[in-house]
Amino acid sequence: MKRVYLDHNATTPVAPEVLAAMLPYFGEAYGNASSIHAFGQDARGAVERARSSVAALVGAQASEITFSSGGTESNNQAIFGVLGSTPEPGRHVITSAIEHVAVLDSCKELAKRGVDVTFLPVDRDGLVNPEDVRRAIRPETALITLMLANNELGTVEPIEEIGKIAAESGIVFHTDAVQAAGKIPIDVTRLGVHLLSIAAHKFYGPKGVGALYVRKGTQLKPLLHGGHSERDRRPGTEDVAAIAGMGKAAELALNNMQDETARIGALRDCLEKGLLERVPHCWVNGAQAPRTPNTTNMTFPFIEGEAMVIALDLKGIACSTGAACSSGAVEPSHVLTAIGLPPEDARATLRLSLGHQNTQQEIDFALETIPAVIERLRLLSPTYKKPAVA
Ligand SMILES: *Cc1c(COP(=O)(O)O)cnc(C)c1O
Repeated sequence: MKRVYLDHNATTPVAPEVLAAMLPYFGEAYGNASSIHAFGQDARGAVERARSSVAALVGAQASEITFSSGGTESNNQAIFGVLGSTPEPGRHVITSAIEHVAVLDSCKELAKRGVDVTFLPVDRDGLVNPEDVRRAIRPETALITLMLANNELGTVEPIEEIGKIAAESGIVFHTDAVQAAGKIPIDVTRLGVHLLSIAAHKFYGPKGVGALYVRKGTQLKPLLHGGHSERDRRPGTEDVAAIAGMGKAAELALNNMQDETARIGALRDCLEKGLLERVPHCWVNGAQAPRTPNTTNMTFPFIEGEAMVIALDLKGIACSTGAACSSGAVEPSHVLTAIGLPPEDARATLRLSLGHQNTQQEIDFALETIPAVIERLRLLSPTYKKPAVA
């Protein structure tokens, strides 16, 4: 059976060039990057080359990049690194209602440890209002953490504007850029952030490796203790193969971004437009906001998203209902709830996220398949009234 992968916001396949860049470090180049001898120096060279490539992807200096185990760790490191594991009483953090759970749950944990957390609302398109950020700032505000691109909607938040507001008040500003890296240009200086998280597996690198940009001079307490790797920020023997893979993935992402943005954006627009034309009564969430070029989030009322995902999987189309982490749960997405969808519409929503290997042929196949699946599921739905044919 033909299989079409439309779930790139959950993870991406490792690019062949990335795999090739990793293989030597599983084989002959097995040194510990902290060893002084030639084996160690080969490994160190690979780690430092990767650091430069990752820095280039986000407009940073190599010395400002710390490797981690992924987006989740980078977000935890940023948040608990600024506040500490036992935060001083009375401190305040600003975040939004639509963050990835790696930020949201970290902030909820801070709240349990006595930190006051403001969860800012978003508008119907999923955008945070920078003026809301300004109004939320207090003398006790220690951190603002807001994502650059949302994983469910693809909406791109006004981080540059918020960066200016954070700078006026001298507050440390973190952005979760895991969904933005490789999809839109990122420049940490222009964004005005002190901390920025990325994960390799969202841009054709391996899983289990990520990075945190830490602006020079930013005070950060380590999460882990036990050695001097990564400039004391993150102890433990580096996963040289994974880091080398992330470096290659960053290089490819930077080189291919312009062409791929145009190509994938056109495919996404074709898919979105085609579904809007072919399926009665459906809509795109976040359509009025700037979005990453690969993502569309659509509501098809009267059907359960989970049922759609399963039915589409049987036809060879892989997509999701939104956050991969919530799959299996019947709770409606916190992102869709935050943009004002009632629970029944939030549950009737699909996220289709495209990537490098998708072709026009695959989009044509999706446009033949998805409307028929939706029609069939709707006819089974007790709440659906088939529109009368004129
Ligand atoms: C995937 C994702 C994460 C988590 O990254 P992992 O490397 O899977 O831990 C964090 N934030 C966003 C926006 C994501 O899409």
